Amino acid sequence: NPPPTLLHPEKWCRGFNHFISQCLIKDFEKRPSVTHLLEHPFIKQVHGKDMSLQKQLAELIQEQQQLGSIAKTRRPYHVDRADKYSLDDDLVNLEVLNEDTIIQQLQKRYADLQIYTYVGDILIALNPFQNLSIYSPQFSRLYHGVKRSSNPPHIFASADAAYQSMVTFSKDQCIIISGESGAGKTESAHLIVQHLTFLGKANNRALREKILQVNPLVEAFGNACTAINDNSSRFGKYLEMMFTPTGAVMGAKISEYLLEKSRVVKQAVGEKNFHIFYYIYAGLYHQKKLSEYRLPDKKPPRYIDNETGRVMHDIVTKDSYGRQFEAIQHCFRIIGFTDEEVYSVYRILTGILNTGNIEFAAISSQHQTDKSEVPNPEALDNAAALLSIGSEELQEALTSHCVVTRGETIIRTNTVDKAADVRDAMSKALYSRLFSWIVNRINTLLQPDKNICAENGMNVGILDIFGFENFTRNSFEQLCINIANEQIQFYFNQHIFALEQMEYQSEGIDATAVEYEDNRPLLDMFLQKPMGLLSLLDEESRFPQATDLTLVDKFEDNLRCKYFWRPKGVELSFGIQHYAGKVLYDASAFLEKNRDTLPADVVVVLRTSENKLLQQLFSSPLTKTGMFCTALLTFSLLQLPVDTMEVMRHPEETTNMKRQTMASYFRYSLMDLLSKMVVGQPHFIRCIKPNDDREALMFSHERVLLQLRYTGILETVKIRQKGYSHRILFEEFVKRYYYLAFKAHETPLGSRENCLAILEKSKLDNWILGKTKVFLKYYHIEQLNLFLREV
Ligand code: ATP
Ligand code: MG
Repeated sequence: NPPPTLLHPEKWCRGFNHFISQCLIKDFEKRPSVTHLLEHPFIKQVHGKDMSLQKQLAELIQEQQQLGSIAKTRRPYHVDRADKYSLDDDLVNLEVLNEDTIIQQLQKRYADLQIYTYVGDILIALNPFQNLSIYSPQFSRLYHGVKRSSNPPHIFASADAAYQSMVTFSKDQCIIISGESGAGKTESAHLIVQHLTFLGKANNRALREKILQVNPLVEAFGNACTAINDNSSRFGKYLEMMFTPTGAVMGAKISEYLLEKSRVVKQAVGEKNFHIFYYIYAGLYHQKKLSEYRLPDKKPPRYIDNETGRVMHDIVTKDSYGRQFEAIQHCFRIIGFTDEEVYSVYRILTGILNTGNIEFAAISSQHQTDKSEVPNPEALDNAAALLSIGSEELQEALTSHCVVTRGETIIRTNTVDKAADVRDAMSKALYSRLFSWIVNRINTLLQPDKNICAENGMNVGILDIFGFENFTRNSFEQLCINIANEQIQFYFNQHIFALEQMEYQSEGIDATAVEYEDNRPLLDMFLQKPMGLLSLLDEESRFPQATDLTLVDKFEDNLRCKYFWRPKGVELSFGIQHYAGKVLYDASAFLEKNRDTLPADVVVVLRTSENKLLQQLFSSPLTKTGMFCTALLTFSLLQLPVDTMEVMRHPEETTNMKRQTMASYFRYSLMDLLSKMVVGQPHFIRCIKPNDDREALMFSHERVLLQLRYTGILETVKIRQKGYSHRILFEEFVKRYYYLAFKAHETPLGSRENCLAILEKSKLDNWILGKTKVFLKYYHIEQLNLFLREV
């Protein structure tokens, strides 16, 4: 007989899966043929006449085939596993627990394309480096609101858990995705947005469409090809999806952190500029519009042509960049940018490309050795035309600067090098301000409709920040990226280990402490005042005579700890022992990058632009100051939990930012990010890169082991095995779950006894009652929620 679920339209998918599981396991191994399966009497009986169902069945089976796991594992993703729960799915179930058993388990699963594995409530995601057909709407349905153990681990299950938790407890959630560069954070973030958009079905289809276009648009501007990852995020992104109290999606908001703007003007060998520059150049090339934007069609502009010839070859022979340009135009349109805005964006982008082509040459005269001129005035004219500013004014701003001494304004000329620096500083400022403007504009276009009651709204925040980096040459940008990762790791440690153990003690619960690698001393070395690395950097940046060498000397004199060292023989080099490994930094241009100065002369000229958008980008004195004030306001308004200070190292920094250096801005950004994260209930996703060759099915034992070690996975498994990850105050517990033991109209007190009554009624085991809190295992929450739904 057909399973009853099969006849119920809503449960069709799950019923179908059940059927497939039986067919596949019994018949498919013997005769792996779709036609054979379609000939099965059952299928013919139930669905024989319905061609659309047959088509869907064929698609489902194809997915299974692609997964390639059917015959091998007998546990395909589609199998309804209500009674086939696999212990392999969760590392917490390992009887023998050590690095070897963990890695064997992951390796075995990876070979079966089971890329996801749980560690209690934490999800480990191995990068498959190939497209798997496990993210279709069928999968979203499969993972919607079911018991976690009903299906193999999946990113949708984690997104679902966050969503269910938000709706059930009316509490904001925060999904933290971490892992090194190329491990799959950004892909995971997309999949979460996809599933949340599916879950938060609103009648407003247009809004859903808009939300799905946000990531591709922002990533075109903020991602680039690096030595490690062809689509590497060069900024940190915190995307908040906002929902109504009933769980319908109503808007979204992005916060961007630390765009690596130096990439606009220079890229390391084998790396590229931000994607958008190639898209626009190729798009205009194919649309034969390059001349309209004053760009040459034989040779791409200097900023995007660091490997002479290759880019042009790619653009002419392959049309993928051109197609991406069309996709971006589509994104702009769907999200709601006006044609005028988009046109202004293109003019600024091509203005930047033209600016990069401006050259400088020394004017040699007897008296003036430090004067420069532009030997290719057509490039200057082109840049000025696209930026809608005067060509002469631009030349003046690049080749000279005003100094005010004793009330008098003196004009000084710039050397060739200085002029080139000013040109690049202008391009960087144009790009980073344009990027921020696009993000703000998206936020305005995606903010919740005023007619929907936004006050009671809730959100799920998704953090996708650049991963830990260790290149052959590591500069200021890598240092900032790695400090940010250090802070995220600290946040993870605090949540998983420290806070949990502190609570056991204060609640009088006897639980064995789990040792973990605390990176607090390292974070202190970076952030402490006045002797932390960032403070020392700021201090040195204030001295006009300081050089990058004096900076490294200063680090060496003051950072006397085991995490810092200075290699012999390489003057500008220093090493840091990060939580994720040793990194050697090259301090060249650290001071200049930290000072991050944009001469006032340039700002004045850009403000005269006839391009309204460009004028707006430079109309406020310094965006950083504005943002800083917002941050202070946020801090005073937020009702941060008691343990906030523990999670945020050196929060005092935010109130004491004197100078607008990159280091101080960086500090502010980190704290701003953490202040957002700490208000939500965290969910952790740890992405792991199985190999450095980006090869499917290749599992490098050493590389995975290293990542497991530095992210503390072994310790995490231990603490999830022994520990109680959910600790809920009696009052809160009774408020949440009183339905389970009391009548709806009753208002039981938040007492220990009432908690006990609920727990006994729910027939859970392994919980503990502390002095003020109920201590639950990670799996209890899901069980309780299911009971609640049944009641
Ligand atoms: P970075 O820190 O450099 O931004 P990342 O962790 O965000 O790196 P991604 O860009 O998400 O890394 O992933 C790198 C590449 O790995 C992707 O471009 C994609 O090719 C592949 N990849 C990652 N996750 C998946 C997945 N679930 N399915 C298929 N391919 C994936
Ligand atoms: Mg990324």
